[in-house]
Amino acid sequence: MRVLVVEDEKKTASFIRKALQAEGFAVDICYNGTEALTMAMATPFDGIVMDIMLPGLDGLSALRQLRARRNTTPVLLLSARGEVNERVEGLNAGADDYLSKPFALAELVARVRALGRRGAGSKSTVLQVGELSLDTVTHQARRGEVVIELTAREYRLLEFLMRSPGRVCGRMAILEKVWDYDFDPGTNLVDVYIRRLREKIDAEFDKKLLHSVRSIGYVIKETA
Ligand code: CA
Repeated sequence: MRVLVVEDEKKTASFIRKALQAEGFAVDICYNGTEALTMAMATPFDGIVMDIMLPGLDGLSALRQLRARRNTTPVLLLSARGEVNERVEGLNAGADDYLSKPFALAELVARVRALGRRGAGSKSTVLQVGELSLDTVTHQARRGEVVIELTAREYRLLEFLMRSPGRVCGRMAILEKVWDYDFDPGTNLVDVYIRRLREKIDAEFDKKLLHSVRSIGYVIKETA
Protein backbone atom coordinates (compact mmCIF):
# COMPACT_ATOMS: atom_id res chain seq x y z
CA MET A 1 0.00 0.00 0.00
CA ARG A 2 1.42 3.36 -1.05
CA VAL A 3 0.62 6.41 1.04
CA LEU A 4 1.22 10.11 0.54
CA VAL A 5 1.79 12.10 3.73
CA VAL A 6 1.21 15.84 3.47
CA GLU A 7 2.51 17.68 6.52
CA ASP A 8 4.69 20.79 6.70
CA GLU A 9 6.01 20.09 10.20
CA LYS A 10 8.99 18.01 9.22
CA LYS A 11 9.31 16.26 12.58
CA THR A 12 5.67 15.13 12.56
CA ALA A 13 5.94 14.07 8.91
CA SER A 14 9.00 12.01 9.75
CA PHE A 15 7.29 10.32 12.75
CA ILE A 16 4.33 9.41 10.57
CA ARG A 17 6.55 8.06 7.82
CA LYS A 18 8.51 5.88 10.24
CA ALA A 19 5.36 4.50 11.85
CA LEU A 20 3.79 3.65 8.48
CA GLN A 21 7.00 2.19 7.04
CA ALA A 22 7.35 -0.03 10.11
CA GLU A 23 3.96 -1.49 9.19
CA GLY A 24 5.02 -2.16 5.62
CA PHE A 25 3.58 0.87 3.84
CA ALA A 26 5.48 2.67 1.10
CA VAL A 27 5.47 6.34 2.04
CA ASP A 28 6.00 9.56 0.10
CA ILE A 29 6.10 12.91 1.86
CA CYS A 30 5.40 16.42 0.71
CA TYR A 31 5.23 19.65 2.67
CA ASN A 32 2.50 21.77 1.07
CA GLY A 33 -0.92 21.52 -0.56
CA THR A 34 0.09 22.51 -4.07
CA GLU A 35 2.77 19.86 -4.22
CA ALA A 36 0.31 17.33 -2.74
CA LEU A 37 -2.14 18.03 -5.54
CA THR A 38 0.51 17.52 -8.21
CA MET A 39 1.78 14.30 -6.67
CA ALA A 40 -1.70 12.88 -6.04
CA MET A 41 -2.75 13.49 -9.63
CA ALA A 42 0.46 11.96 -11.00
CA THR A 43 0.68 8.84 -8.82
CA PRO A 44 -2.08 6.39 -7.90
CA PHE A 45 -1.74 6.37 -4.10
CA ASP A 46 -3.84 4.01 -2.00
CA GLY A 47 -4.35 6.69 0.60
CA ILE A 48 -3.40 10.25 1.53
CA VAL A 49 -2.77 11.56 5.04
CA MET A 50 -3.35 15.30 4.77
CA ASP A 51 -2.78 17.91 7.44
CA ILE A 52 -5.26 20.82 7.27
CA MET A 53 -2.83 23.52 8.35
CA LEU A 54 -0.38 23.84 5.48
CA PRO A 55 1.45 26.82 4.02
CA GLY A 56 -0.09 28.20 0.82
CA LEU A 57 -2.87 25.89 -0.30
CA ASP A 58 -4.32 24.42 2.92
CA GLY A 59 -5.36 20.77 3.30
CA LEU A 60 -9.09 21.38 2.87
CA SER A 61 -8.60 23.38 -0.33
CA ALA A 62 -6.18 20.80 -1.70
CA LEU A 63 -8.74 18.09 -0.95
CA ARG A 64 -11.56 20.02 -2.67
CA GLN A 65 -9.42 20.51 -5.75
CA LEU A 66 -8.51 16.86 -5.77
CA ARG A 67 -12.18 15.82 -5.70
CA ALA A 68 -13.08 18.44 -8.30
CA ARG A 69 -10.58 16.73 -10.58
CA ARG A 70 -12.37 13.43 -9.90
CA ASN A 71 -9.51 11.99 -7.91
CA THR A 72 -11.10 9.50 -5.48
CA THR A 73 -8.00 8.51 -3.50
CA PRO A 74 -9.15 8.03 0.12
CA VAL A 75 -8.03 10.91 2.33
CA LEU A 76 -7.48 11.02 6.09
CA LEU A 77 -7.43 14.62 7.32
CA LEU A 78 -5.31 15.68 10.26
CA SER A 79 -6.29 18.68 12.31
CA ALA A 80 -4.75 20.54 15.23
CA ARG A 81 -8.19 21.40 16.51
CA GLY A 82 -10.86 18.81 17.13
CA GLU A 83 -13.72 21.12 16.28
CA VAL A 84 -16.94 19.59 15.05
CA ASN A 85 -17.32 22.28 12.36
CA GLU A 86 -13.97 21.52 10.90
CA ARG A 87 -14.70 17.80 10.94
CA VAL A 88 -17.98 18.36 9.09
CA GLU A 89 -16.30 20.73 6.67
CA GLY A 90 -13.61 18.13 6.04
CA LEU A 91 -16.09 15.35 5.35
CA ASN A 92 -18.12 17.64 3.07
CA ALA A 93 -14.94 18.46 1.17
CA GLY A 94 -14.61 14.76 0.40
CA ALA A 95 -12.47 13.40 3.23
CA ASP A 96 -12.92 9.75 4.15
CA ASP A 97 -11.74 10.07 7.72
CA TYR A 98 -10.56 12.64 10.22
CA LEU A 99 -8.08 12.55 13.08
CA SER A 100 -7.35 15.28 15.62
CA LYS A 101 -3.87 16.07 16.85
CA PRO A 102 -2.39 14.93 19.07
CA PHE A 103 -3.01 11.32 18.08
CA ALA A 104 -1.45 7.97 18.89
CA LEU A 105 0.63 6.65 16.00
CA ALA A 106 -1.02 3.24 16.41
CA GLU A 107 -4.42 4.84 15.77
CA LEU A 108 -3.11 6.66 12.71
CA VAL A 109 -1.71 3.41 11.30
CA ALA A 110 -5.02 1.59 11.93
CA ARG A 111 -6.98 4.35 10.21
CA VAL A 112 -4.66 4.44 7.23
CA ARG A 113 -5.06 0.70 6.85
CA ALA A 114 -8.86 1.09 6.94
CA LEU A 115 -8.51 3.84 4.34
CA GLY A 116 -6.81 1.39 2.00
CA ARG A 117 -9.63 -1.13 2.39
CA ARG A 118 -12.20 1.56 1.69
CA GLY A 119 -10.34 2.68 -1.41
CA ALA A 120 -10.13 -0.84 -2.76
CA GLY A 121 -13.86 -1.42 -2.40
CA SER A 122 -15.26 1.97 -3.26
CA LYS A 123 -14.03 2.51 -6.80
CA SER A 124 -17.16 1.15 -8.46
CA THR A 125 -19.65 2.75 -6.07
CA VAL A 126 -19.53 6.17 -7.72
CA LEU A 127 -21.61 6.71 -10.84
CA GLN A 128 -20.35 9.38 -13.19
CA VAL A 129 -21.88 11.25 -16.12
CA GLY A 130 -19.78 14.17 -17.33
CA GLU A 131 -18.88 16.21 -14.28
CA LEU A 132 -21.85 14.86 -12.34
CA SER A 133 -21.06 12.13 -9.86
CA LEU A 134 -23.31 10.15 -7.55
CA ASP A 135 -21.94 8.20 -4.62
CA THR A 136 -24.17 5.16 -4.14
CA VAL A 137 -22.86 4.62 -0.60
CA THR A 138 -23.26 8.12 0.84
CA HIS A 139 -26.05 9.09 -1.62
CA GLN A 140 -24.24 12.35 -2.22
CA ALA A 141 -24.31 13.99 -5.63
CA ARG A 142 -21.71 16.42 -6.88
CA ARG A 143 -21.39 18.50 -9.95
CA GLY A 144 -17.72 19.42 -10.19
CA GLU A 145 -17.01 20.55 -6.66
CA VAL A 146 -20.57 21.64 -5.93
CA VAL A 147 -22.30 19.28 -3.52
CA ILE A 148 -25.96 18.67 -4.38
CA GLU A 149 -28.41 17.68 -1.67
CA LEU A 150 -31.04 15.17 -2.79
CA THR A 151 -34.16 13.81 -1.15
CA ALA A 152 -34.45 10.01 -0.98
CA ARG A 153 -36.78 9.91 -4.00
CA GLU A 154 -34.65 12.30 -6.04
CA TYR A 155 -31.67 10.09 -5.28
CA ARG A 156 -33.46 6.98 -6.52
CA LEU A 157 -34.52 8.72 -9.69
CA LEU A 158 -31.04 10.07 -10.40
CA GLU A 159 -29.43 6.72 -9.61
CA PHE A 160 -31.81 4.93 -11.99
CA LEU A 161 -31.00 7.36 -14.81
CA MET A 162 -27.26 7.36 -14.12
CA ARG A 163 -27.04 3.57 -14.14
CA SER A 164 -27.80 3.67 -17.87
CA PRO A 165 -26.32 6.88 -19.23
CA GLY A 166 -27.33 7.52 -22.83
CA ARG A 167 -30.32 5.16 -22.64
CA VAL A 168 -33.80 6.62 -22.81
CA CYS A 169 -35.83 5.70 -19.72
CA GLY A 170 -39.56 5.61 -20.28
CA ARG A 171 -41.97 7.09 -17.74
CA MET A 172 -43.45 3.68 -16.99
CA ALA A 173 -40.03 2.15 -16.32
CA ILE A 174 -39.21 5.08 -14.02
CA LEU A 175 -42.48 4.67 -12.10
CA GLU A 176 -41.72 1.00 -11.67
CA LYS A 177 -38.11 1.37 -10.54
CA VAL A 178 -38.31 4.57 -8.55
CA TRP A 179 -41.84 4.43 -7.12
CA ASP A 180 -42.46 0.67 -7.26
CA TYR A 181 -45.68 1.30 -9.18
CA ASP A 182 -46.70 -1.35 -11.66
CA PHE A 183 -49.48 0.85 -12.95
CA ASP A 184 -49.66 4.37 -14.31
CA PRO A 185 -51.14 6.52 -11.54
CA GLY A 186 -52.24 8.99 -14.21
CA THR A 187 -50.31 11.87 -12.70
CA ASN A 188 -47.32 13.84 -13.83
CA LEU A 189 -45.30 12.57 -10.87
CA VAL A 190 -42.28 11.66 -12.98
CA ASP A 191 -42.24 15.00 -14.78
CA VAL A 192 -42.52 16.87 -11.50
CA TYR A 193 -39.54 15.03 -10.05
CA ILE A 194 -37.52 15.41 -13.23
CA ARG A 195 -38.12 19.15 -13.02
CA ARG A 196 -36.88 19.19 -9.41
CA LEU A 197 -33.83 17.19 -10.35
CA ARG A 198 -33.08 19.55 -13.22
CA GLU A 199 -33.27 22.50 -10.85
CA LYS A 200 -30.58 20.84 -8.78
CA ILE A 201 -28.21 19.27 -11.29
CA ASP A 202 -28.62 21.36 -14.45
CA ALA A 203 -30.16 24.78 -13.81
CA GLU A 204 -26.97 26.47 -12.63
CA PHE A 205 -24.74 24.94 -15.27
CA ASP A 206 -24.22 25.64 -18.96
CA LYS A 207 -23.95 22.02 -20.01
CA LYS A 208 -27.28 20.24 -19.54
CA LEU A 209 -27.17 16.55 -18.71
CA LEU A 210 -30.82 15.61 -18.23
CA HIS A 211 -32.74 15.58 -21.49
CA SER A 212 -36.38 14.96 -22.44
CA VAL A 213 -37.22 12.60 -25.24
CA ARG A 214 -40.57 13.77 -26.50
CA SER A 215 -43.50 11.56 -25.48
CA ILE A 216 -41.17 8.76 -24.37
CA GLY A 217 -39.22 9.72 -21.31
CA TYR A 218 -35.85 10.97 -20.17
CA VAL A 219 -32.18 10.34 -20.70
CA ILE A 220 -29.08 11.45 -18.88
CA LYS A 221 -26.03 11.99 -21.01
CA GLU A 222 -23.20 14.34 -21.74
CA THR A 223 -23.72 16.04 -25.08
CA ALA A 224 -20.88 17.47 -27.14
CA1 CA B 1 0.82 21.51 9.61
